[in-house]
Amino acid sequence: MQVSSGNQIDFDVVIVGGGMVGSMVAALLAQHTDLSIAVLEVKRPDAFERGSSPDYDIRVSALSIATQNMFKKVGAWQGVLDRRACLYRQMLVWDGEESGKTHFKADDIGASELGHIVENRVVQLALLDVLDASENIDYRSGVRLRKCVQGTDAVTLVTASHSAAADDTSSELTIRTRLLIGADGARSSVREFANIAMHTDSYEHHALVATVTTAAEQQDITWQRFMPTGPQALLPLSGSRASMVWYHNAEEISRLSALDDASFLQEMMATFPEKLGELTSVLQRGSFPIVKAHADTYIANRIALVGDAAHTVHPLAGQGLNLGMLDAASLAELVADAHAAGNDIGTRRLLRRYERWRRGDNALMITALDGFYHAFKPQPQPFRKLRSTALSIADNAGPVKQIIMKYAMGTSGDLPRYAK
Ligand SMILES: Cc1cc2nc3c(=O)[nH]c(=O)nc-3n(C[C@H](O)[C@H](O)[C@H](O)COP(=O)(O)OP(=O)(O)OC[C@H]3O[C@@H](n4cnc5c(N)ncnc54)[C@H](O)[C@@H]3O)c2cc1C
Repeated sequence: MQVSSGNQIDFDVVIVGGGMVGSMVAALLAQHTDLSIAVLEVKRPDAFERGSSPDYDIRVSALSIATQNMFKKVGAWQGVLDRRACLYRQMLVWDGEESGKTHFKADDIGASELGHIVENRVVQLALLDVLDASENIDYRSGVRLRKCVQGTDAVTLVTASHSAAADDTSSELTIRTRLLIGADGARSSVREFANIAMHTDSYEHHALVATVTTAAEQQDITWQRFMPTGPQALLPLSGSRASMVWYHNAEEISRLSALDDASFLQEMMATFPEKLGELTSVLQRGSFPIVKAHADTYIANRIALVGDAAHTVHPLAGQGLNLGMLDAASLAELVADAHAAGNDIGTRRLLRRYERWRRGDNALMITALDGFYHAFKPQPQPFRKLRSTALSIADNAGPVKQIIMKYAMGTSGDLPRYAK
């Protein structure tokens, strides 16, 4: 129950970071409990009314089936479809130096789809529809975390207006909570306040992401070609649009970023696979460094980290957000069960169960993506042949292919019930 006195408010749960993962934790908890929940976010995303067609967000994500299941469970999936999403049924991965390839098709495992490509803003807004309609959620944007003190029975936070100067205390608010969830992204301040170390390693790759229009209508396929300089990928968007991802070293990405649109399109058509066809315009471009990071622990006294606050992975397999969503569903399930049983929702025991559930799986994915990254770096011929043969074996061996596909769709392993 939310209780307030003066400039102090008590909530059962406080989530710092109302991005995609933080909003999902809030939506799941609101649906399955009567806990009072505060979501503190620096910036609310700009509105995108259903049925309208504003500019495309440069940041897009491939949502797995498990993530889609969560959206359906909290009633946010229609909000995604009503705005903009592109279904895909196939995934083609091939070795640009050798002949090996793997072609995943939803049909192969009797599924109707492999997932959807959705703009990050759409993901966030569809969840915000749910948060805004939930009576037990207090969503506050324009606020920033200033202080965080851990006690035995509660965590006490001090927040202030995002725009306030560091020495301006006029907008400060004290909030006490039994459980603080850090969903505030890769540079998490909750993680910092909790003194949790993060092991970080930068890849040589940077990613240049471009939203383009194509002469051909997009089909229901995502593809990725592995080159020694880094992967090149296409994610289809609605209509004749696509999100292209070009991984390369930092110097090349900054050279490409500096080109004018016409020269950039020309270079892209000359470098990307022919099947891309003609590119007619570039709508947006942006570049990101690629970092691998894993927090030493996901928990501290009455604190849990979820999503990028706990881990970031190489985006080549489009798994970062999906892993964060599984964190969200696992933590929400444990908290909802503890609350239903009349137990404290912030005990060390509960939080350790959460960490045991998620940290090993996330570590495995970080290692697997690392393996992919290294396998496709420049390699001597015998290794290249081996790598290419492995892709072809994965393409032809039915059971192996099915296991990989189910893993990519997020439908294998120890799934939280909200993701099923
Ligand atoms: C190029 C690229 C492509 C990618 N493609 C995919 C893909 O296809 N599929 C996929 O699954 N993943 C993909 N990812 C990864 C994915 O984008 C991230 O894993 C995901 O955004 C993490 O979500 P999050 O909610 O944990 O963190 P964030 O998205 O970083 O959200 C954190 C939120 O917290 C807020 N915040 C931060 N600090 C504070 C504070 N002090 N107080 C209050 N609020 C705060 C921020 O404003 C933000 O809203 C990609 C990443 C990159 C770089």
